[in-house]
Amino acid sequence: MIVIDEKTIFGEIEKKRPVSVALNGPDGILPKIQETASRIMEIYGIPAYVLADSCFGTCDMNTNGAKVLGAEILFHIGHSINSTSFGDNIVLVDAFDNVSFDGIARRCAEEFRGKTVSLVTDSQHLHEVEKVRGILEEGGVEVLVGRGKGQLNDGQVFGCEFYPAMETAGLADANVFLGQSNFHAAGVALSTNRPTYVLDPYFNEIREVTEFAQTLQKKSILAVYKAAECESFGVIVGLKEGQFSKTAALRFKKELEDLGKKVQLFALTEITDDKLRNLKGIDAFIQVACPRISTDNHFHKPVLSTPQAKALVRLLRKESVENVFQIPHWL
Ligand code: SF4
Repeated sequence: MIVIDEKTIFGEIEKKRPVSVALNGPDGILPKIQETASRIMEIYGIPAYVLADSCFGTCDMNTNGAKVLGAEILFHIGHSINSTSFGDNIVLVDAFDNVSFDGIARRCAEEFRGKTVSLVTDSQHLHEVEKVRGILEEGGVEVLVGRGKGQLNDGQVFGCEFYPAMETAGLADANVFLGQSNFHAAGVALSTNRPTYVLDPYFNEIREVTEFAQTLQKKSILAVYKAAECESFGVIVGLKEGQFSKTAALRFKKELEDLGKKVQLFALTEITDDKLRNLKGIDAFIQVACPRISTDNHFHKPVLSTPQAKALVRLLRKESVENVFQIPHWL
């Protein structure tokens, strides 16, 4: 069950006495966020708006939504990073999953006895890393936990950022991801090029995602080769604040034009196949927002992420296209 750190929220409200607040977080915990918003309204008698648009990370906090509503504090819940606030008005609030990994970790110890594993996880299960490490080590498994970097804590990964996993990649036989997210685990498998397993305490299973990750990679590389045949490109700047990268878009524009391609620039908040179908005269797209939009979704034309677009440029220059995703940050 997800437990939101309401103590932090209530403490901030009592300290700052805002006239209204806004809250958001990942789709999966919206019902819990609704409950917290109701409690705020009941206890403090102020409006508490739930920003209910999809919100995939600290790259996607919708601070503009909070501003438009006049909310003086935005509580961004469930994407813990290694800091607790952004400026004066955004407070990052932990939401931990209190499910126990004890049983599944003991099974994992039996399966990986004598091996070395790198432990990784997402925000909601970070607090379980040391406990699981203890169970695995007791069972004869050597455990590595890579150091955090940028916004990441030790052992933590995002869908596009894998520093702790990359640090241990050369030393571990496999990665073990704590939680349920095949999405995060597949990214870990791709960046490290190592067998990767999800330790899922809800289904009580150890699931390998290596093959799933390889399928994503094959599809993504195929899109690069298809794009290499194209003449006109749409380069898309993502308008979500933490995914905004105009510089990268302009760099790809110049590189492609230097290679004789035609380029148009676009900007979108949500990059979906339906939106792209409205745009005419474009053979392939490059989007410099969230890389997982390209790798994990289906589009009717090639839609390349930043690492894929870099590979495209190398391919067009007749340079080698290798290790497209074997980098710690896919931006
Ligand atoms: S994978 Fe996408 S949504 Fe997740 S942190 Fe990276 S850019 Fe943001």
